[in-house]
Amino acid sequence: MGTQTTQVAVLGAGPGGYAAAFYAADLGMQVTLIDEERNPGGVCLYRGCIPSKALLHVAKVMDDARHAHAWGVDFGEPAVDVAKLRSFKQGVVDKLTGGVGHVARLRKVTFLQGRATLTGPHSLTVAGQDGDTDVQFEHCVLATGSCPTRIPSLSLDSPRMLDSTSALELPDVPASLLVVGGGYIGLELGTVYAALGSQVSVVEMTPGLLPGADRDLVNVLHKRLEKLCAAIMVSTKVVKVAEEANGVRVTFDPPAEPVFDRVLVAVGRRPNSDIPGLASTRVKVDARGFIETDAQRRTAEPTIFAIGDVAGEPMLAHKASHEARVAIDAIAGHKAVFEPAAIPAVVFTDPEIAWCGLTEAQAQAEGIAVEIAKFPWGALGRAITIDRPEGLTKLVLEPKTGRVLGVGIAGSGAGELIAEGVLAVEMGATAEDMKLTIHPHPTLSETLMESAEVFFGQSTHVYKPKRK
Ligand code: NAD
Repeated sequence: MGTQTTQVAVLGAGPGGYAAAFYAADLGMQVTLIDEERNPGGVCLYRGCIPSKALLHVAKVMDDARHAHAWGVDFGEPAVDVAKLRSFKQGVVDKLTGGVGHVARLRKVTFLQGRATLTGPHSLTVAGQDGDTDVQFEHCVLATGSCPTRIPSLSLDSPRMLDSTSALELPDVPASLLVVGGGYIGLELGTVYAALGSQVSVVEMTPGLLPGADRDLVNVLHKRLEKLCAAIMVSTKVVKVAEEANGVRVTFDPPAEPVFDRVLVAVGRRPNSDIPGLASTRVKVDARGFIETDAQRRTAEPTIFAIGDVAGEPMLAHKASHEARVAIDAIAGHKAVFEPAAIPAVVFTDPEIAWCGLTEAQAQAEGIAVEIAKFPWGALGRAITIDRPEGLTKLVLEPKTGRVLGVGIAGSGAGELIAEGVLAVEMGATAEDMKLTIHPHPTLSETLMESAEVFFGQSTHVYKPKRK
């Protein structure tokens, strides 16, 4: 058995874990990063954000090509070479994971491939291919991520049943696909398969898609998905799945029993807090399975920190990588706490939906008085030139001061545009700041400026006088 001592051991090399390891190394600490994969990357790079975005990019190109006949250009129906598409996606994953591995070596981070078991507040063992390694650490950062939630009534041992991991492997393009769960994953992967030619149906048990998101934004997406999908069923639950010779028979409530080629289950994710040996420490796990931490992401065991999906909602890569810096700063003795005013959320469908800060529904639920300013993209030159007038930009503002409390965008490129909203909320910007900031013309970013002008009843392109 090998042994080593390190200042910081990081368990899990996703965007939380590798950001923690790299930052610790940049601060001059000796770091060991542990993961079961050959390179850092985690779910995000191997089985999540990155491969799904590669496929969504292709889906968008195909949709645009199909739509081009409306502009007088006919490419014909796109032909898909699934093997080549798969290898493009795999190439993206290999390039990024290999790149992050290279950067780890440049930083002299020791990377251990294997499964770790905690053995106490200062030690763990890694079972690797070449045997076990004992690691003594001063501090440890748990960044073990999350995995798809499994529901017993939807558990069927069949290649016809997919989760986000197997769906991203792109086994083939099924004739029909039922997506169970109208959340982030269901809608993103449903969009990919629909573009590739599957008849996609979505079933969501709550009354609307993306339950946590603003309804004005979701409505924009819903309308477009209705054209893309064979069916969108809300307020509908899947009660049972059973394999038959020609597919999976799915029992719904309200009752219906259609058959689908494949079923993709995307009903949420759960934290990977069942870390072997966790009981040898004082780390506490809450009722939902998240590791409990303070504002610095320190657990009840003072030497151990937890970040990312395993440490609480929202389960987003960028939240993890920011928590990583806070935890490492805390270990370094710097003053740091994790208290963002806005964490952006983006659903990479087409159109994209993105929001940050306070939502209108949240303000209502919490009794916070807000004023809403909306700018419809149909009034914007750039949106018309790209033939995407259906978008909406929405500001949630403090009535007296016009301070920007939240921003929501539905439309092409919303995921890029929201960064300005995040900065506005974080900097305590007001509608006046956004209005007076010169935005480039003609761009979709003007919708942020114009929605701020709507607050004053002075939007150049929307006539909506302020009520006296
Ligand atoms: P989700 O929570 O976004 O959506 C799951 C949906 O399934 C919910 O709308 C829920 O009401 C529905 N549901 C649950 N049980 C059901 C049932 N029996 N029948 C029908 N519907 C049911 O979860 P997800 O899509 O699996 O994604 C998990 C997490 O991964 C997200 O919360 C997000 O944090 C992360 N993620 C983020 C992105 C992104 O940032 N673009 C993309 C993918 C995943």
